[in-house]
Amino acid sequence: MVDVNSPCLGCAIAQGTVRPVGGVLVRASGLVLHGVASPSPLPGWLVLTSEEHVRGLWDLPAAAARELGPLASRAARALREALRAEHVYAFVLGDVLHHFHLHLVPRFADTPAHLRGRGAFDARPADALAPEVLEAAAAALARGLGS
Ligand SMILES: [Zn+2]
Repeated sequence: MVDVNSPCLGCAIAQGTVRPVGGVLVRASGLVLHGVASPSPLPGWLVLTSEEHVRGLWDLPAAAARELGPLASRAARALREALRAEHVYAFVLGDVLHHFHLHLVPRFADTPAHLRGRGAFDARPADALAPEVLEAAAAALARGLGS
């Protein structure tokens, strides 16, 4: 398994040396909104990553902490409006990647039962969507976000 902490994948995405599928959609107040950096079973699976290398919610810089709620809410609205998500889950796990990130995971009317809720994290390789599907969803979200 790839070690995502050395070098740190969160830092690489924040610094632009790694481009997750969908790319960076918004950069604001020490946060980066981007597509999930692993094979995704859901179009529009977003991640909000801190630009600074911090471990968890408790040590987010003040500006990033202030921006977290508004930006997460704005991204969730874009998932509903641009992609017609029925619901948007939010998860801060951090068990694998030790750089603060918040997952915003959409649920659609046709999302299979095993991919709902935290089931999305247990997706099988066969569930992964084609990169072009994920890129198209990210482009629609970028338009919805005005970025
Ligand atoms: Zn990092």
